[in-house]
Parts: sequence; C-alpha cells; structure tokens
Amino acid sequence: MANERTLAIIKPDGVEKHRIGRILARIEEEGFSVCAMRMTRLSTREAEGFYAVHREKPFFGSLVKFMTRGPVVLMVLEREGAIAKWREVMGATNPENADEGTLRREHASSLEENTVHGSDAPDTASFEIGWFFRESELLST
Ligand code: ATP
Ligand code: MG
Repeated sequence: MANERTLAIIKPDGVEKHRIGRILARIEEEGFSVCAMRMTRLSTREAEGFYAVHREKPFFGSLVKFMTRGPVVLMVLEREGAIAKWREVMGATNPENADEGTLRREHASSLEENTVHGSDAPDTASFEIGWFFRESELLST
C-alpha cells in the first residue's frame, strides 16, 4: 500500500474534554506522521462548506452548530493506507457501535458529538485537505 494522506479533526467536544494530548499520542502510536496541524474555531461558512455533502440531511444545521461552537484541531496525517487506517482507529460514527479500543468508543458521547473526523476516500481526502491547508503547509517529516 502506498503512503497516503487524510484529513483528521479533533472536534469541539474532544477539545472541551481536554483529549487533544491523548488523541495525538494515539495518532503517533498508530504510525501516522503529522504533516500539518492547526487549532482554530471554524466559521459557519467553513463548516457548511466542509460538510457540504450532508447539506440535505436533517442533522445538517445541528452538525454545523456543533462544529462551530468551540475550537477544533485540524490535522493532515500520513502513513500507508492512512484513510482506512484512521477510520479504523476512530471507530464507527455512532460510539455505541464503535469497537472497544477505538477513539470514538473511548471518548465520544453521542452520534453527533463523536470527537474525531476522518476523510472517507481519496477524493474526499484531497478536497478536505485543500479546504483547510495550502500545499506549502504540508510538511514531510
Ligand atoms: P465524519 O465525516 O465526521 O468523520 P463519519 O464519516 O463517520 O463522520 P458521516 O456520515 O460523514 O459520518 O457524518 C458526519 C458527521 O455528522 C458525523 O460524524 C456526526 O458528527 C454527524 N452525524 C451523522 N449522522 C448523524 C445523525 N443521524 N444525527 C446527528 N448527527 C449525525
Ligand atoms: Mg464522513
């Protein structure tokens, strides 16, 4: 499998609960390199554009409100098979269905407040990375 990049986010609930350090430790233990990282508070426009694929879903308004209520940590992660591996480490969208040992099982409190985000395919990863980072901000370590 080739080296690949994915976009990860520690969502507002994860930052509020002071889980940044534990999540970053897990990221490094799982063999990812951090290529870029920024803590920021998303604007409504940024969150709506990022989650544009969900615009028609009934939970869209609530999701945007959640994602903008406090700071997030945006990261670009790199490793072999990064997209699938990061989704495996995160666990299922609903923490009640997430496997033991996954980040969402350990830290998430609900289907909406599920602590972490990860891109789901190569095309979405490249859209999502480009949504938040310029090419010159992606550093190889
Ligand atoms: P993410 O894209 O954040 O990594 P995901 O790919 O596992 O999560 P998606 O289906 O893309 O899940 O949903 C995006 C986000 O919207 C979820 O992570 C969750 O925060 C929220 N969400 C999804 N389904 C619901 C729902 N039925 N009710 C409320 N919030 C939801
Ligand atoms: Mg998704």
